Amino acid sequence: MVSKKNLELGLKSSVIREVFEYGKKRKAEIGEENVFDFSLGNPNIPAPKIVNDTLKKLIQDSDPTELHGYSSGPGDIEVRKAVASYLNERYSVNESYSRIYMTCGAAASLTITLNALVEEGDEIILLAPFFPEYRVFVEHTGAKPIVVRCDWDTMQPDVTKIRDAINEHTKAIIINSPNNPTGAIYPSMVLAELSSVLSEKEVRYSHPIYVISDEPYRELSYGYPVPYTAKFIKNTISCYSFSKSLSLPGERIGYICVCERCEDGDNIFAAVCGAGRALGYVCAPVLFQKMIPSVLGYTSSIDEYEKNMLEIKRILDECGFTYIEPQGAFYIFIKSPASNAQEFCEAAKQLDLLFVRGDEFGGAGYVRIAYCVSNKMIRNSEKAWIQLAKKYNLKGNCNE
Ligand code: PLP
Repeated sequence: MVSKKNLELGLKSSVIREVFEYGKKRKAEIGEENVFDFSLGNPNIPAPKIVNDTLKKLIQDSDPTELHGYSSGPGDIEVRKAVASYLNERYSVNESYSRIYMTCGAAASLTITLNALVEEGDEIILLAPFFPEYRVFVEHTGAKPIVVRCDWDTMQPDVTKIRDAINEHTKAIIINSPNNPTGAIYPSMVLAELSSVLSEKEVRYSHPIYVISDEPYRELSYGYPVPYTAKFIKNTISCYSFSKSLSLPGERIGYICVCERCEDGDNIFAAVCGAGRALGYVCAPVLFQKMIPSVLGYTSSIDEYEKNMLEIKRILDECGFTYIEPQGAFYIFIKSPASNAQEFCEAAKQLDLLFVRGDEFGGAGYVRIAYCVSNKMIRNSEKAWIQLAKKYNLKGNCNE
């Protein structure tokens, strides 16, 4: 016999992966240029030049046994110091390197943090729509996910509903801004409101309620300020990744910051180290850790993502689709013109237009498109969007 819950997870891939795998198969059948795959958040814009330059230099100049050897569990001390200094300078905070833990990307940051915090009977609040893996990560710790819907017009957290959902079992809430799948960015006013609700409930239940701030898209904003969560909410644990900001999702590098004002912060950090150890992470890839001090503050071209976003919006507007106005990240959440979003996805699939239904994101009735693809593919997909709009009799210019 094997573990039932892991067997289930292994046999059933995520809806995003399912569509992506179908896309790969279809491309092999009819040619890459004929499939318009908007399924996966795999950055298409290359990493900035400094990434490869730094890697080359490290490979040329470093002692290979050190470069490819183990670092300490939480990471190379100079790297952790560089990350803390960067955060302090950029956000005027006072994070300590002794609370920075280098990880294998945001997924590792989240699973380590959740495992560090969760005890039997705990509940973790998720704000729908949310990145579907949150449910997997939370359930795997034994905690119960409690889904609270965002305000559906703005896709901002509904603080009143969050207040109602908190009880004595609430250990933490996961927030993600800029958001996957909606592209919403939570302004400082919303974070301040959330902070005041959490403080009120912490007094009532006599224990901290942590905010796990999942921030892989922190730099990907189209002109909207992205507040640093820990500045507004004291019990914040930041989960960061360089996967999206530097287009390095395959390299697995990120960090956890148990923020300065976090209650019981030193113990949380120790539990983070313990969870990383128990989950078998050992240490984050050392070559990529050592690259980090030279690339902090750099990003892949946000202008290119913005160009893609404007292009896809133009097509959607002309076709008459309704969507949530994206402020950051590289996703658009489109309202399905069919009452069943899966039916809409299937109709699009017939036109080799691939995207994922919102159901697994907690966003039934919507679909998500990832526009971290080539601008050419977006332009070439226009005809398929027009045909799709016609099928649903949408009132856009393209149908006039
Ligand atoms: N969190 C969110 C909101 C994401 O969208 C993703 C990846 O798409 C992750 C976490 C996982 O990121 P990583 O590849 O750095 O593990």
